[in-house]
Amino acid sequence: MNNRMMAAVLYGKEHLQVEPVAVPTIDRGDILVRVKVALTCGTDVKVFRRGYHARMIVPPAVFGHELAGDVVAVGADVTRFSTGQRVVAANSAPCEECFFCRRGLQNLCEDLLFNNGAYAEYIRIPARIVERNTYLIPGHVGYQDAALVEPLACVVRGFEESAPREGDTIAIIGLGPIGLMFAKLAKLYGCRVIAVGRRKTQLERAGALGADELIVAGEGSDPVKAIRDLTHGRGVDIAIEAVGQPQTWEWAVNMVRRGGTVNFFGGCPNESTVNLDTALLHYSEITCKASFHHTPAYVRKALDLINAGHITASFFVNSEEPLANLLEVMRHLMSHNGHLKTAIVP
Ligand SMILES: [Zn+2]
Ligand SMILES: [Zn+2]
Repeated sequence: MNNRMMAAVLYGKEHLQVEPVAVPTIDRGDILVRVKVALTCGTDVKVFRRGYHARMIVPPAVFGHELAGDVVAVGADVTRFSTGQRVVAANSAPCEECFFCRRGLQNLCEDLLFNNGAYAEYIRIPARIVERNTYLIPGHVGYQDAALVEPLACVVRGFEESAPREGDTIAIIGLGPIGLMFAKLAKLYGCRVIAVGRRKTQLERAGALGADELIVAGEGSDPVKAIRDLTHGRGVDIAIEAVGQPQTWEWAVNMVRRGGTVNFFGGCPNESTVNLDTALLHYSEITCKASFHHTPAYVRKALDLINAGHITASFFVNSEEPLANLLEVMRHLMSHNGHLKTAIVP
């Protein structure tokens, strides 16, 4: 193998370059993966716009975190994998020793190890992720399908944390790839889905995934009233916010029935605040959750859903671009909302 490769390096705010860098070297417990596909993610677009992410990536750094590929080298201590295997690796792994890990809250691990560098020909998967969050891809599953495991793990966890029951009515606000994954999952669980989105194409996608009712959240519309009209004035059992804006967080609280659950899944811009009606929260006994990230158990659950064919890339990925075009892809995703994921092929 040549010891140079092409990789995207993030230098700062809206500044990235696809350039030759050294192929990563691996340690005893690591593996080296030839990236077959890396998927764009809303988080990457956010990082590109801001130039950094306090917890996940500090530039200059290789970039991208949703990937699937082939093992091309393994460290001396690696026993679980061998060269030639098709694998998918999550973007992080917990320590399994800290206060939070011991309570099953590995998503809040005090020493969560993040890995970036998926927009490249090769990526090093560090030992801890190799041991705890890397899996073989079965022969019948495509690389793009498998690469959905990381966002899907966050979604499956967020969904289960909202304690859905079969037959529940669930409002999903925001119909990007994450909101659409929630819609698909809710249908798999036997729930009634009311999808709330701004764009016609997004609402059509939600409908294609099985959403029962579609609500346009446009200028002059009142999605909260629309939800109440569809639920005998009562409100939904669960409202999932998958936008990450204070206004939609507030909508979510006003959409649920008494005793209902809100999941603030979308992270708002830093230092955002929201106004919540305390009487409503208290006298209506509203449960508020705000699920973040995933745990190894949910990575496995997500992979099971993918391997069973319930979640496929066809619904969440709608274009393919070579690595060399990453800068244009990021710029485009930043300035145009309403996109699905793009598959970057190094
Ligand atoms: Zn992601
Ligand atoms: Zn930990």
